[in-house]
Amino acid sequence: MSKFAAGKGFAVTALVAAMSFSGMTTAGVTDKDIINDQATTGDVVSNGLGLRGQRYSPLTSLNTETVKDLKAVWSFSFGGEKQRGQESQPMVKDGVMYVTASYSRVFAIDVKTGEELWQYDARLPDGIMPCCDVINRGVALYGDLVIFGTLDAKLVALNKDTGKVKWKKKVGDYKAGYSLTAAPIVVKGKVITGVSGGEFGIVGKVEAYDAKTGKLAWTRPTVEGHMGYIWKDGKKTENGISGGKPGKTWPGDLWKTGGAATWLGGTYDPDVDLLFFGTGNPAPWNSHLRPGDNLFSSSRLAIDPDTGKIVWHFQTTPNDGWDFDGVNELISFDYKSKGKTVKAAATADRNGFMYVLNRENGDFIRGFPFVDEISWASGLDKNGRPIYIDSNRPGNPADSKDGKKGKSIRAVPSFLGGKNWMPMAYSQDTGLFYVPSNEWAMDIWNEPVSYKKGAAYLGAGFTIKPMNDEYIGVLRAMDPKTGKEVWRYKNYAPLWGGVLATAGNLVFMGNPEGYLMAFDAKSGEVKYKFNTGSGIVGSPITWEMDGEQYISVVSGWGGAVPLWGGEVAKRVKHLNQGGSVWTFKLPKEDS
Ligand code: CA
Ligand code: CA
Repeated sequence: MSKFAAGKGFAVTALVAAMSFSGMTTAGVTDKDIINDQATTGDVVSNGLGLRGQRYSPLTSLNTETVKDLKAVWSFSFGGEKQRGQESQPMVKDGVMYVTASYSRVFAIDVKTGEELWQYDARLPDGIMPCCDVINRGVALYGDLVIFGTLDAKLVALNKDTGKVKWKKKVGDYKAGYSLTAAPIVVKGKVITGVSGGEFGIVGKVEAYDAKTGKLAWTRPTVEGHMGYIWKDGKKTENGISGGKPGKTWPGDLWKTGGAATWLGGTYDPDVDLLFFGTGNPAPWNSHLRPGDNLFSSSRLAIDPDTGKIVWHFQTTPNDGWDFDGVNELISFDYKSKGKTVKAAATADRNGFMYVLNRENGDFIRGFPFVDEISWASGLDKNGRPIYIDSNRPGNPADSKDGKKGKSIRAVPSFLGGKNWMPMAYSQDTGLFYVPSNEWAMDIWNEPVSYKKGAAYLGAGFTIKPMNDEYIGVLRAMDPKTGKEVWRYKNYAPLWGGVLATAGNLVFMGNPEGYLMAFDAKSGEVKYKFNTGSGIVGSPITWEMDGEQYISVVSGWGGAVPLWGGEVAKRVKHLNQGGSVWTFKLPKEDS
């Protein structure tokens, strides 16, 4: 409250306080609510059920014994013709669910009844350029605001009670290929966002805005050579970057359109006070045009939340030539080794390797494949750098007879990744990561290309192919201490939705066939399944209300697979689109 106890804000705060005493409204989400989100089971106020992104809930009334009785209590339709992929994670606070849908829409829903309270539709211009379907992954909550990113690259803050716009900020130029699809996060009063657009030669960045006002606090480009800035007391100053000179790891001017899009957003660990954001492919895809490591593409970055300074970086695929975006979530977790607590963080990369890092300094602890085949590297060296198999990099068009097409190679994983955006979960009980992964290969070749604003900037052609007749998706329980797969569940369609682990020894996940499924976290045995009527590519949540445990998940097939999936897309073309959010609980014993 002290933040508001001066100037004009005071009268407004007093009014809000008075209203909340009368039960009409509540003060909304605080920094404390967000930091404590994982432990407070009565609400879900952060993407990842806690800013560390563990997607783990301490709730136990749903467990391996009781989950068989789980029943749907309501389903809410996003309506209209605007179905397409639904990749959102809902939020729940004070009896209201806030969930996004395709085409930059936000809904507030009464969680008791499933009734709509309000709907916000962003008015999108013609000419938006989402690479991978018109999806959105969720909102951030702060104070009385519901904040989300739009496909025309704006951050929009809505009043939580009315859905009316409180502030709106342009984060990037949609005509140059920028868009926003990730859920922003709020850390210490700042809303932190990345940007999408790596297929259009944008320059990736992470930015912080004052959550109450929308004022830009700092900006941090993620391509080496671009300077970042912080605004303090009206003054703009550089926020340093390690080794940030242009041209060091990029030839010529390519850093000016270098990609490294931060399109999946980030996580935050209050313990080490660092933001963790991943960066996408260097642009263009044709790696022969840009010899060098191409920092900070295909990397994980640790960023100071107060200044935007890069504290450390870890690059998973230097000089990436396969579109192995390094954006996948870096999840903080602690484990014991020789009696000591290791402050670790883990990530499962598109490139097929899973990495365990020291989250204080970015040091490589260990890495191991989490997919059955990796074609492009024979392993990782002691620093976690891949050992390339040069003959398995797509060939240089300059080496071909007419200079138009380089040698085509078979690459595994495909560019859609051993794992893509769909977030894994970490169980504090089993110490395992539950990784939604896919087994697929691609034929890929390079072509000449030059940058043109607003045009695809790939210099590559490709066809994605299944590797097995029976399955593409594999949910894996991975031990981060040993690199061993403890169990696996094979799924016919590719997995594209997030995972949730609970203290009830359960792991929840949806599949494109439409099922919300629950697994025994220790054995992988399927304990529950329910079909939601369209494919699930969103991330389930759980919370508690009036002493009962609820599960919610959005349903609506789409995302990158039907658009980019080649032979795989053909294999799953029978799956129907949709757009709804489902909520489940156990039946009350006395009713
Ligand atoms: Ca909570
Ligand atoms: Ca990419």
